[in-house]
Amino acid sequence: MIQYLDLKQVNAPYEQKLREAISAVIDSGWYLFGKEVEQWSRDWKFYVGTKYCVPVSNGLDALRLVLEAWIELGVMKTGDEVIVPANTYIASILAVSDAGLMPVFVEPDPETFLLTADGVRRAIGPKTKAILPVHLYGQTCEMEEIMEVARENKLKVLEDAAQSHGSVLKMKDGSVKKSGSLGDAGAFSFYPGKNLGALGDAGAVCTDNKSLAITVSQLANYGSSRKYVHIFKGDNCRMDEMQAACLRVKLDDLDRINRRRKAIAGRYLREIRNPEITLPVCRTDSVWHIFPVLCAKRDALQEHLRTHGVMTQIHYPIPPHHQAAYRELQELRLPVTEKIACEELSLPCNQCMSEDEVTHVIQTVNQF
Ligand SMILES: *Cc1c(COP(=O)(O)O)cnc(C)c1O
Repeated sequence: MIQYLDLKQVNAPYEQKLREAISAVIDSGWYLFGKEVEQWSRDWKFYVGTKYCVPVSNGLDALRLVLEAWIELGVMKTGDEVIVPANTYIASILAVSDAGLMPVFVEPDPETFLLTADGVRRAIGPKTKAILPVHLYGQTCEMEEIMEVARENKLKVLEDAAQSHGSVLKMKDGSVKKSGSLGDAGAFSFYPGKNLGALGDAGAVCTDNKSLAITVSQLANYGSSRKYVHIFKGDNCRMDEMQAACLRVKLDDLDRINRRRKAIAGRYLREIRNPEITLPVCRTDSVWHIFPVLCAKRDALQEHLRTHGVMTQIHYPIPPHHQAAYRELQELRLPVTEKIACEELSLPCNQCMSEDEVTHVIQTVNQF
C-alpha cells in the first residue's frame, strides 16, 4: 500500500535528533520565549530572506495577526476588503473574516489553479485594502505582476506561504527570491503534514517591515512586549520551545525534501499520459506540497487507485464559498473553483516514496 503521507515515516530519519532536541528542552526548564524560539526565528528569516521573523502558534494565526496588525497600525479598518483566491484552504479565508475584514473571492487560473494579477485587478473596489495570494499546492504565484497591481492601487500584500516552504521566484532582474519574502508579509504554517512540519502546531510571520513585525509579536503575546503592560487587546499565539527545537532539526533537510518532491512531480508530469486526466501547469516554481490532477470521473479514479494500493486525497472537496460557515456567500457562482473542487485528486508526492512506488502510481493512473 502506498500511503498518501505517513508522518511517522516522514519523521523517522530525524528520530534520534528530535529526541535529543526535546530532551534538551525538558532539561532546560524553559518552555516559552527561550533560546530555541529565538534561534528558530533567526534560522527561518535567513532561509526565507526577510529582515524579521515572528514565530507564532500556527498558520491561521500567522495570517490573522498580520491583518490585525495592519488594522492596529491604521493601514486598514474593520469591514475593508481583502482579495483572496476562491480556490484555497479555508484558513486563508478565516484569517480575513476573523480579523473583521471582508474576503472578496477571485477565480483561479484554470491551468495553475492559482490567483492571478488579472483576476486581482478586476476585483479591486473602493474598499479594497489588501491582497492575499496563496501559493497553493506549493507553486509560487505570479508575484511580480501581483505586486505591480498592489503598488498601483496602494494595497498591502500578505502571502499565504503555508504550502510553499522554499519555493522560489526568478525575478525579471535575474535575482531569485523565496515565497514569503515577495509581498509585504508572508505567513507560514508548520502543521505536521506541511513540507516542513513541526510535531504539533506552529507558524511564522516573515516581513521586512519592522513596525509590522513588532506589532505582530505584541499581538501574539497579549498585546504586550513588557510584562503586564498591554498596548493592544492581544491574543496568546506563541510558538513553544519544543516545536522550535524540532523545526531546527528538520530545517537542514528541507531543500533535499523539496528536490525529491520536484523529481517525483517531474516524473508525473512527463510520464502520466491519460486523456481522462488533466495535469497541473507550473509556470513559476513549485515545491509540490500537493500534486493535483483533475479528472471528471474523480471518484472512480480514486477508487481505481485505492484498489491498486495507491492512497490519494482531495484538496479540497468543498470550496470556502460553499461551506456552511460562509452561508452568506452561497449565492456566489465560481465555476472554475467549483470544477476544481469536483475534479481534483491529489496523488502521493513525498520524500518517503521509492522510485518503484512512483512508477506504480504512474502505471496505475495511466491504466485508468
Ligand atoms: C495549512 C494551511 C493554513 C493553516 O495553517 P495551520 O497551521 O493549520 O493553521 C493556511 N493556509 C493554507 C493554504 C494551508 O494549507
